[in-house]
Amino acid sequence: MTLQRTFTIIKPDAVKKHAIGDIIEQFEKNGFRILAMKMLEISKHQAEQFYAVHVNRPFFSSLTDFMSSGPIVALALEKENAIADLRKLMGATNPAQAEEGTIRKKWATNIEYNAIHGSDAEDTARFELSFFFAGYELAI
Ligand code: ATP
Ligand code: MG
Repeated sequence: MTLQRTFTIIKPDAVKKHAIGDIIEQFEKNGFRILAMKMLEISKHQAEQFYAVHVNRPFFSSLTDFMSSGPIVALALEKENAIADLRKLMGATNPAQAEEGTIRKKWATNIEYNAIHGSDAEDTARFELSFFFAGYELAI
């Protein structure tokens, strides 16, 4: 398997819980190389664009309110099998179903305030990386 890139967000709930350092340590301990990283706040409109695939879901409005409710940390990560390996490290969307040792098991509050986002496929990783990072920021 060749190197693969993925995109992750430390969500507003995890930033408020002071979990940034712990989560980044998990990325590094699990073999992810950090290519780029930024802390920022996004608007409701930007959150709607980012999560456009979920526009018809009942939780869309609440999700985009949440994602624009405070600072987030966006990172571009690289490793072999990065997309699947990050999803495994994150744990299930609903922390009640997340395995021991996963980021969501440790930090998520509930199915919505679940601490971390990770790309779920190659095409979404490409879209999400380019949504948050310019080409020159990833040319490393
Ligand atoms: P993410 O895309 O953030 O990595 P995911 O891929 O595990 O999470 P999705 O189904 O893509 O889960 O949902 C996106 C986000 O929407 C979830 O991470 C969560 O914050 C929120 N969400 C998902 N399902 C629900 C739900 N039933 N009720 C409220 N919020 C939800
Ligand atoms: Mg998803």
